[in-house]
Amino acid sequence: MTIQIELRGVNKHYGSFHALKDIDLSIAEGTFVALVGPSGCGKSTLLRSLAGLEKISTGDLKIAGQQMNGVPPRKRDVAMVFQSYALYPHMTVEENLTYSLRIRGVAKAQAKKAAAEVAATTGLSHLLGRYPRELSGGQRQRVAMSRAIIRHPKAFLFDEPLSNLDAALRVHMRKEIRALHDRLHATSVYVTHDQIEAMTMADHVVVMRDGIIEQQGKPLDLYDAPVNKFVAGFIGSPAMNFIPAMVGDDGKTLALDLGTVRGILTVDRTLQPGRKITVGIRPEHIGIAEAGQGSFDVPVAVVESTGFTAFITAATTPELIVVETGRSTVRPGDMVGVRISSDQLHLFDDATGVRV
Ligand code: ATP
Repeated sequence: MTIQIELRGVNKHYGSFHALKDIDLSIAEGTFVALVGPSGCGKSTLLRSLAGLEKISTGDLKIAGQQMNGVPPRKRDVAMVFQSYALYPHMTVEENLTYSLRIRGVAKAQAKKAAAEVAATTGLSHLLGRYPRELSGGQRQRVAMSRAIIRHPKAFLFDEPLSNLDAALRVHMRKEIRALHDRLHATSVYVTHDQIEAMTMADHVVVMRDGIIEQQGKPLDLYDAPVNKFVAGFIGSPAMNFIPAMVGDDGKTLALDLGTVRGILTVDRTLQPGRKITVGIRPEHIGIAEAGQGSFDVPVAVVESTGFTAFITAATTPELIVVETGRSTVRPGDMVGVRISSDQLHLFDDATGVRV
């Protein structure tokens, strides 16, 4: 597979602030990559460095095999789609689309033809004569994408393109962007702070924190085997439960500390007796049983039912969140047994957060 974008040992300093720390990243041609992480982790800085809008401090950055350090944005042959759309308000949709071609010297008739072709792909044909103020948020987003597509760039760079849209339109547009990516066989790099967007849209997810890449891989690989507590807590909704625990004298049991509730779980390996562990359990991997019938009993604090799914929060410290599919008859104040199977546990070192 051809590598389209390659970063080796990339660092970015803003004065004394170290925003990107030794980033290594290879993006294969045609891949949809999501850069995800909490606010300030450096994902936009990384994207803007690819676009040439930020100058990297050290390291190598290649696009299509060519060294890009020092190459200005317009010579990089990448197209950026922003959350603000950055459309020209005084130009029609068609003029917004043809503008970048016209300034490159493409003849008017040819530019109009290209605009019509792209508009047909993105469902804008009937809106070519409108001004941005006459469009909905989703339509503006489509114009912004069309303007990127018309240039046939080597890569599309998306900077949180859906964050200005309401929830329903966001869900719709993420499917549309992904479908467009598949049709164009483009290389796409997509920045978002929304892990669901990253998980549902991308082939490859890069989780960042504090300027470093914590983990990268296929979405479900990150979900199934997070390398540390941070990634475990970041990927998945509702978030993974984390419970402090200590390894028992036999090395095969974990004594959970849930405040007044004490639970014992058996693990499928031998650990050092007395070692402190953080046990991670995804809410959907915990089942509800009659009191006395599960691994241990907990009092129920809150039951939130969405219809198909019920989220049950136990009155423990830390809170334990359980997901039950189907209609739940559990009520606040009930004592219920929780069923936890040992093969669904994620164990992290208490001090370092690294997967055990
Ligand atoms: P968000 O989701 O909030 O946009 P992000 O992960 O995209 O966050 P960046 O915009 O890449 O984060 O910023 C990374 C860090 O670099 C932040 O701590 C930010 O304050 C800092 N930073 C960004 N631009 C500059 C700048 N021009 N000068 C100084 N610090 C900056």
